[in-house]
Amino acid sequence: MAVVGAGISGLAAAGSLVAAGLEVTVFERGRGPGGRAGRRRVPGFEFDHGAQYFTARSRAFADQTAAWVEAGVAAVWSPRMATAGEGALRPKDSRTTRYVGVPGMSALSRNLAQGLELQTQTRVLSASLRRGAGGAPQWMLDVSGGGDDAGPARGTRPFDALLLACTPQQALPLLDTAPEFAARAREVTFDPVWAVLLGFDHTPELAADAVFIEHPALSWAARNDTKPGRSGGPAWVLHATGSWSRGREDEAPESVVAGLLPAFEAAVGRPLPEPVYAAAHRWRYARPRTALAENALWDTELNVGMCGDWCSGARIEGAFDSGLAAARQVLDPGVGLQ
Ligand SMILES: Cc1cc2nc3c(=O)[nH]c(=O)nc-3n(C[C@H](O)[C@H](O)[C@H](O)COP(=O)(O)OP(=O)(O)OC[C@H]3O[C@@H](n4cnc5c(N)ncnc54)[C@H](O)[C@@H]3O)c2cc1C
Repeated sequence: MAVVGAGISGLAAAGSLVAAGLEVTVFERGRGPGGRAGRRRVPGFEFDHGAQYFTARSRAFADQTAAWVEAGVAAVWSPRMATAGEGALRPKDSRTTRYVGVPGMSALSRNLAQGLELQTQTRVLSASLRRGAGGAPQWMLDVSGGGDDAGPARGTRPFDALLLACTPQQALPLLDTAPEFAARAREVTFDPVWAVLLGFDHTPELAADAVFIEHPALSWAARNDTKPGRSGGPAWVLHATGSWSRGREDEAPESVVAGLLPAFEAAVGRPLPEPVYAAAHRWRYARPRTALAENALWDTELNVGMCGDWCSGARIEGAFDSGLAAARQVLDPGVGLQ
């Protein structure tokens, strides 16, 4: 069986399927696993440029979180919380237990990927459905390097089943031969989010480490070096709102920084020192605007399925739970995979 995508959902699904005895190959176009729960390191600074922290409510994810904490892969982060928006920072009480990956958010996916057959820097370019012996579905995947760097040579590989653990927009080009299934993916739309990464040589004087922002341009800012296990200097991550990011997907990163830095200063009501490092990262498919009612989709006729945070809730926990739900559907005795 093939899983496309080594984000939290794909890895959770693959781990569960392998534990049940299935042979699974996970394809990931990026350099490593993690997807939107990743880490960016530059000289002197470390940033979680996507997901900032996670919470654990479902039994399965709470158990996984406890295992991560036990293994030193995750830890509780207790930032000074605040809200901001109209030129003032207001301290915010919070009883939420927030966890982060250690030493970065990507530690979670690296942990989940242990023991799996994971082919990174390998993009699945197309998928076509054939009928094999006895009419059983056979998925022919055209895979190639084509991720961030040159990967293995292009080739076509057959699989008895296919799980698309990526956003619906990334899944759609792979569903040409399953149009009814593709229609479900079209129900879901995503917002982009620009992330701005700022490194300082001395700490900006802000009485907060994590800020929920009510501003047309910004929704969140956090000082990432206050998370456990980080090294490097004061490192802030700003997240733009979906409405600000929409329509600006192709803007130059410098102009995104130039737009969002003053917005942050306006929201918190004070100027920041000049950053010594500034960059912007675009998440083209960042957050689902609409979500499916189902936790995951699986078609027992075609042996194809989809999972991800757009099924179960737009969070790390939702992605994990969706991956497990997909695996449960695959392993349903009626499905008959080997
Ligand atoms: C800016 C931002 C902030 C966030 N903040 C939080 C937060 O604070 N807390 C929280 O819990 N969640 C947060 N989230 C959400 C969280 O990151 C996601 O819910 C979760 O990581 C999604 O996991 P996933 O497996 O569903 O998808 P993804 O992480 O998107 O994984 C899909 C993977 O598929 C790969 N892929 C796609 N197409 C192909 C292809 N053709 N071939 C091979 N590989 C392919 C991609 O490279 C990617 O790695 C945030 C997300 C963003 C973008």
